[in-house]
Order: sequence, then C-alpha cells, then structure tokens
Amino acid sequence: NPVPDYLAEVAEACASLTSGEPASYIPELASVDPDRYGVAMATIDGALYSVGDARHEFTIQSISKAFVYGLAVRERGLTEVLRKVDVEPSGDPFDELSLEDGTGRPRNPMINAGAITTHALVGGDGVSSAGRFEEIHRLLCDLAGRELSVDEEVWASEMSVSDRNLAIAHLLRSHGIISDSPEEVVSAYVRQCAVLVTAEDLAMMAATLANAGVQPVTGQRIFSGHQVRHLLSVMLTCGMYDSAGDWVSNVGIPAKSGVGGGIIGALPGQVGIATFAPRLDPHGSSVRGIETFERLSHDMGLHLMEVA
Ligand code: GLU
Repeated sequence: NPVPDYLAEVAEACASLTSGEPASYIPELASVDPDRYGVAMATIDGALYSVGDARHEFTIQSISKAFVYGLAVRERGLTEVLRKVDVEPSGDPFDELSLEDGTGRPRNPMINAGAITTHALVGGDGVSSAGRFEEIHRLLCDLAGRELSVDEEVWASEMSVSDRNLAIAHLLRSHGIISDSPEEVVSAYVRQCAVLVTAEDLAMMAATLANAGVQPVTGQRIFSGHQVRHLLSVMLTCGMYDSAGDWVSNVGIPAKSGVGGGIIGALPGQVGIATFAPRLDPHGSSVRGIETFERLSHDMGLHLMEVA
C-alpha cells in the first residue's frame, strides 16, 4: 500500500518547519512538547493510515466547535439555530467580541461567540450544564468511535484565564442570545474544548463528515446528509480563523483548526484528514498542519475546485 509511504514522505518534509509557538494564553498548553507531529487519514470505508505522533492525545479545543454546531442543528433545526448564530465569515480573530449590530447574533459558529452560543443550544430546555456537557461528550465519543477523556489540567488552566469568554457570554446574555448563567455556560464550553483526542480520532471524526454523517467503522448515523452539507459549508468559509480565505484558495477542503495544534479536513465522499503539531502561526493554526494539508491537497488533487 503506497499511502503510508507517501504520508511518511510528506511528514518528513513538513517536520523541518520549526516556526511558530504553542498557544500560551492557556498556561497549561504552553508546556506541551512543541515538536510533536502526527498525520492521520481515514477513508469513508474506514481504512485508517497514520504516521508520527498520530496516537498522542491533545485537547480538541476549537475543532469541537464544528461538531457541536452540527449537534445544535440536529437538535434544534437549522432555522432556529440561524436565528441565534449567523454563517458569515467574520475575518476577525477567534476570540473577538464580534456580534451583529442590533441583534447581537454572533457572525458564525466557529468564533468563540458563536461556539458558546451553539454550545448553549444543546440539550432540552432546563438541561443542567453537566447534562449538556455529557451530551456533547457522547457526540464526540460516537464520532471518534471510542471513549474520550477530559484533560482536567487544561480545563482548570483555561478556566483561570477565561475572562474574555466570560465577557462574551455576558454580552450574549445581555442580547438574549443565551439565557443560562454565563459562568456555567463558559465552564462547560471550556470542558468541551478540553476533551482529549488523537490525530487518528480526529481523522475518523472528519471521515464521518466526509461520509455524509455515518461513522465509517461503527456504521452509526450521527448527522443527516443535509446537516453535514451545511456544516461543511460553514467549515469551508469560517473554519480557519481569520485566514479562511487563504486556506480555501491553497487547500480547498472544509476544515477546522484548534489551538491545541490539531487541524481536521473533510473531503466529501472521500477522506477525513487530521494533523497534530502544536506550533501555531499568528492566526492560531498549526504551522506544520497547514503545510501538510497544502501538500496533500496539491499532490492528491483534493482541492474542491480542482477541475479534473
Ligand atoms: N478553548 C479555546 C477558547 O475558547 C478554544 C480556542 C481555539 O481553539 O481556537 O479560547
């Protein structure tokens, strides 16, 4: 099989990149080994290929935003979710207090304001924040096809510096976008971000999207095809922080990155890809991860706009 050899070749080329730094605004994240690097690819029929540190666990962070958005849409329906969160790229950094004038609606579900909102939409009315987290955790486990744990240190560490997310949540409540206590919402949202995954897990989760919502190994239907189409569209336009435009032109795959160093990409009908490398560029995305995706997209002709 030529795939593992090819992945190893790409990984070797990308491993020479040593620019960027691990996220440091969450104290605990600054202590990770910056040179870890793993790549994993899962096809829609469940074949999994990986190289390097693809089985090393790290926190999912913002990559969870994509899946939790899907969950909110699955539970509430798109019309209701769109009333609370728009789908326009903001061009702003992920933690910007970027809300639509007048309505207070966050620009999209991939920035923190939108992600805190979609988090709060999960679960029926009156659900506790613990119950809401449980539902989200279950979703992430189902997508990965295994039980995932939480990094308690990263959670506690981020809670100690969560003023900005608390400010966002307070602002959201002042506009009536969320109704629960900002403290509880942010605490469970930060817990969602602290779920531990590997690049292999993320590749399977992305392959579930590529496979129109059916987990390729367990066969469980997690999202409908229509929900996935919507989710991938929002990932394509808003998934890569404030460098989404660059990403679409260079890589052309719906994607989401997280400050833990992970990036996922899902190519409809084909594969889920994930990279893990903690050194981040100024936008907050993994430097080696971006290079890896650029190479894979180029070499394998994965760009969505590629005309055969
Ligand atoms: N937990 C992080 C935050 O809300 C996630 C940020 C990210 O991965 O972009 O600030």
